[in-house]
Amino acid sequence: MGRRVDQPTYEIVGPLTRFDERDSVFARERLRPGSPLERAYHALHPELKEIDRRLARFIETVDEPGERGEQLNTALYQCSFGPVAGLALPDIVDGPVAERRVHVPPDLAARRIKAIARHLDADEVRIGPLNPAWVYSHRGTPPFFDYYRPNPPHFAGLPDGYSGLRWGDPIELPHTTAISMAFAQDRRLLRTSGTPFSDFEVGRVYAHSALVATQVAAYIRALGWSARAHHMRHYDVLVVPVAVDAGLGELGRCGYLINQRLGANPRLVCVTTDMPLALDKPVDLGLQDFCRKCLKCATTCPVQAIPRGEPVVVRGVRKWKIDEVKCLLYWGHLGTACAICQTVCPWSKPPTLPHRLVAEIAAHIPAARRFLIWADDVVYGREFRPAPPPRWGSETIE
Ligand code: SF4
Ligand code: SF4
Repeated sequence: MGRRVDQPTYEIVGPLTRFDERDSVFARERLRPGSPLERAYHALHPELKEIDRRLARFIETVDEPGERGEQLNTALYQCSFGPVAGLALPDIVDGPVAERRVHVPPDLAARRIKAIARHLDADEVRIGPLNPAWVYSHRGTPPFFDYYRPNPPHFAGLPDGYSGLRWGDPIELPHTTAISMAFAQDRRLLRTSGTPFSDFEVGRVYAHSALVATQVAAYIRALGWSARAHHMRHYDVLVVPVAVDAGLGELGRCGYLINQRLGANPRLVCVTTDMPLALDKPVDLGLQDFCRKCLKCATTCPVQAIPRGEPVVVRGVRKWKIDEVKCLLYWGHLGTACAICQTVCPWSKPPTLPHRLVAEIAAHIPAARRFLIWADDVVYGREFRPAPPPRWGSETIE
């Protein structure tokens, strides 16, 4: 395992500023041109108007019903991403807390929660402090259930104290601790990048991890402590830095968390709570040095959305910053998510004994890193090698 350290490996160089979810590309792509929200947002950010219209055109084409072949693809998308939308209900992500509180020693409670999460299928679980700087300042992503009504409340019958349900609502989260969980995606299906099968796998893992996050949150609430699940249908926090603080991995050049065993491959969810839990330490995998020498994600990204230079300061943190507009527009061009950077990363390998050994060497022996990067290129290629669709997906349907 990488070295356990007292501080995460990203560098804080100024006051940390909370991220406004309205500024995320996934919120901006949903701004319908001419709608009240779009006008309100672009009155504040006129410089983003044109680019956001391009993002909105992408999402409109995704939402349109297509030809028969496209319908087969849309059906796959709906199958994996659709039903899980119900897991974003406020009383599922949050909800009532049992009146009677069970007091458990923090180390025992942490062990029990990790065991439950693993039994529910989380591949990696760690617990860290919740830095308030990683909580979104304002709600930005519209409800997944009702895109087309202007800024509806998510639901009626909200639990007491629940806020931040409409676009632009401030978000306050009083929790102190975060349980971060990582779920592996099938590498082969992800390598069908640009086909609906890659998206299908992404959606499958998003859905499964969302369910587990809500289950873990429900467990903690049933013990009498407040707990909220954060998953792809309802984030209040930036799950990557939260996971870095818990020691699940380090932030890579490609913008994803890199975990020693799962590489850039996992999907992340977390549960925040006020329950006292023993905290894990962050990890140092030597990744900041490794990424400086590697650049494989940056050179294989089809639209140069991943920087090749040095990290820059973003809201008080020095880090590599990807161009998410370029990335999302490329997804629009493909009609699916891309995921090339996740699959080419040398850390994204099956956790076989030889690969685990190589990851150990990479984490602990800086002098070996250039050789390992060269060896990865020789064995797996410097370029992205797409995988063919699965057999069940290539059979013709008349
Ligand atoms: S997902 Fe694709 S387009 Fe986006 S940064 Fe990664 S490689 Fe580039
Ligand atoms: S591909 Fe290389 S540079 Fe990119 S995140 Fe992985 S290790 Fe870092």
